[in-house]
Amino acid sequence: MKTIHVSTGRPYDVQIAPGLLTSVGALARELAPGTRKAAIVTDRNVGELYLEPVRSSLEGAGFEVAGYALLPGEASKSGESYLALLGWLAEQKLTRTDIIVALGGGVVGDLAGFAAATYLRGVRYIQLPTTLLAMVDSSVGGKTAIDLPAGKNLAGAFYQPTLVLCDTDALRTLPEEVFRDGAAEVIKYAMICDCKGALLEQLKGDALRTKPEEIVAACLSIKRDIVCEDELDTGQRMLLNFGHTIGHGVEKLSGYAVSHGLAVAIGMAMDTRAAVKLGNCPPQCLAVLEELLALFGLPDKTDYPPQELYEAALSDKKRAGGEITLVTPRELGFCELMTMPMPEMLDWIETGVSL
Ligand code: NAD
Repeated sequence: MKTIHVSTGRPYDVQIAPGLLTSVGALARELAPGTRKAAIVTDRNVGELYLEPVRSSLEGAGFEVAGYALLPGEASKSGESYLALLGWLAEQKLTRTDIIVALGGGVVGDLAGFAAATYLRGVRYIQLPTTLLAMVDSSVGGKTAIDLPAGKNLAGAFYQPTLVLCDTDALRTLPEEVFRDGAAEVIKYAMICDCKGALLEQLKGDALRTKPEEIVAACLSIKRDIVCEDELDTGQRMLLNFGHTIGHGVEKLSGYAVSHGLAVAIGMAMDTRAAVKLGNCPPQCLAVLEELLALFGLPDKTDYPPQELYEAALSDKKRAGGEITLVTPRELGFCELMTMPMPEMLDWIETGVSL
């Protein structure tokens, strides 16, 4: 078992090991000795696979358990789903001393986390991430959100969980395309903050499939260090957005038919190509990135024209006033933030189309 301690304003542990879902009752009981109820929020796919073991673990530890299953998919991160969930929590008479358990991917974690942040002005919640993306990224760091008709993640809160349990056995039931989405985020960590190159080397082999605990822990220790330095995302935390600005444009232009991971892969490749062409980083950065993307079946190009990508990127949250902050590779395993006037972003995208 690997444990990562996250010392944010409200500190907590992330545990990573196979089989952890069935330990949630005992671990939650240690953290919340007097708590009576646990409300599990999941989606129907994940619920079918894992609700019962999680429920019986919690019941075994003396919790009174209620379960709520969303329709799978991003559409469940809506305002309507959020209000319906709050209504259900109220029907269950959940009190401020009770606990919410988010069992699922990033959609469940973001929605349940935002409900936990706001229901009764805040109740504790435990993250049980079941996708690779949720394990290495969304379950840790306290960003919770729902989507608005105007865009993704536009309403939310910073609200740290009480405990995160990454049961790597859950990765075995993931559809390949969902696994691949998570792999893009894993590659992101290796590109932004892996100066010694250990994670990059491991990813060139089959460690992500054979030793997922090690890879998830390596990614989370990078995320932990960044989040602890910049919990509210006003500086270094923006490094985690590598590839996300152009990626966001690709997702948006495709009407979200291109998944987040694939879009981020394209964004990272375009940002790196631009950086190489402008002499900001050595060509080796691009060669290694392209090798890893290919290994996981991730794309490195899009047919959307730069002008359209630029316009789609204009609505990006990384924009402030007339400027936007991008993440640019400097060396293999090392990225930096780079702020530029918005119009220069169009040149940047055009530069990143090809070498
Ligand atoms: P997801 O939650 O939609 O899950 C993808 C699919 O996999 C769903 O159909 C789900 O039912 C299924 N699934 C989940 N676990 C499974 C398992 N173990 N076995 C079989 N099927 C399983 O998608 P995701 O990629 O996990 O998360 C995407 C969301 O995460 C987006 O809404 C994004 O905005 C958000 N996100 C948040 C943060 C953050 O910091 N809060 C960071 C990155 C992404």
